[in-house]
Amino acid sequence: MERVVISGGAGFLGSHLCDRMLDDGLAVVVFDNFITGRRKNIEHLFDNPNFTFVEQDVSVACDIKGSVDYIMHLASPASPDDFKRIPFETLRAGSFATHVMLELARRKGARFFFASTSEVYGDPPPEHHPQVETYFGNVNPNGPRSVYDEAKRYAEAVTMAYHRQYDLDTRIVRIFNTYGPRMRPDDGRVVTNLVSQALRGKPLTLYGDGSQTRSFCYVLDLIDGFCRLLRSEETTPVNIGNPIEFTIRELADLVIELTGSNSKIVTVPLPFADDPKQRRPDISKAKRLLDWEPRIPLREGLAKTIDYLRKEG
Ligand code: NAD
Ligand code: UDP
Repeated sequence: MERVVISGGAGFLGSHLCDRMLDDGLAVVVFDNFITGRRKNIEHLFDNPNFTFVEQDVSVACDIKGSVDYIMHLASPASPDDFKRIPFETLRAGSFATHVMLELARRKGARFFFASTSEVYGDPPPEHHPQVETYFGNVNPNGPRSVYDEAKRYAEAVTMAYHRQYDLDTRIVRIFNTYGPRMRPDDGRVVTNLVSQALRGKPLTLYGDGSQTRSFCYVLDLIDGFCRLLRSEETTPVNIGNPIEFTIRELADLVIELTGSNSKIVTVPLPFADDPKQRRPDISKAKRLLDWEPRIPLREGLAKTIDYLRKEG
């Protein structure tokens, strides 16, 4: 039986990845310190004999007995609200924790998979829209989002250094905005904020004028892309995301429609500097190399997310 170690496995994406890996017949070991994740995301797995959970800050250390085939490093805060609240933990997740997980992969002779982000592209000018993997980015190195963006850029660099210097077998996925059940209702990200506001009858907050765009991928589509990349031979970064782009105002309108809420939409000043104005993945590489593209439209995925957040209360 193959064995995968997942850091950040109690988080939103990590917990869905655990489900998928167990379904695919692998043994799964999760390391998580719950800094932004939740026990309830993985509680349903505690009785599964192929699932092991270790409460651990992986920016300090990570070790395990026995053989490991894959190490997937997802541990990192992922919401701009979290970057503001826990900037040093965010920096450590991209830097020290990536070293720790790479060293573990090297000791075990395991394939290493790094969860990078579209934030490595920063706020691209129009000629770099949509974002292709070969674009190097336009990132503010010291703004409030830099603790995340620069840590992820550093993590890509150190991953490739292990690949080149030690011949470590590595994969890098660049994840674009992903949503779905098991997001924390109070995580501050746009889908959770707008849906929670709509369900509570509160005004939906558009930051700025709501004309900025994002391209939203449903979580199960993303996880399928992860699995295909993990099994592929591609060692350079690959975008995984949904290429259909929406303004944030369009998203707010859709949330009102699908929740049937009477809430109004209000505009408030942008709380973060360097909020990217446009974000859309070019997924030609994933299509070509992985035969992957997303299947679940925003309307359908949002309905599932609304059901989940309604039950969360
Ligand atoms: P999340 O906050 O729900 O999950 C992150 C998990 O990592 C949490 O369970 C948290 O407790 C854990 N963690 C953080 N630091 C840790 C540490 N030092 N030691 C152990 N555990 C730690 O976020 P998510 O949305 O599931 O994101 C998962 C990964 O995907 C992150 O690396 C994030 O940067 C990346 N990503 C996500 C998105 C998205 O839209 N969801 C987009 C781009 C990149
Ligand atoms: N946003 C918004 N209202 C909110 C939360 C976010 O208008 O209540 C906007 C935010 O300014 C950004 C986009 O939605 O332009 C996506 O924000 P999120 O925090 O989800 O992720 P980002 O892609 O910025 O990391």
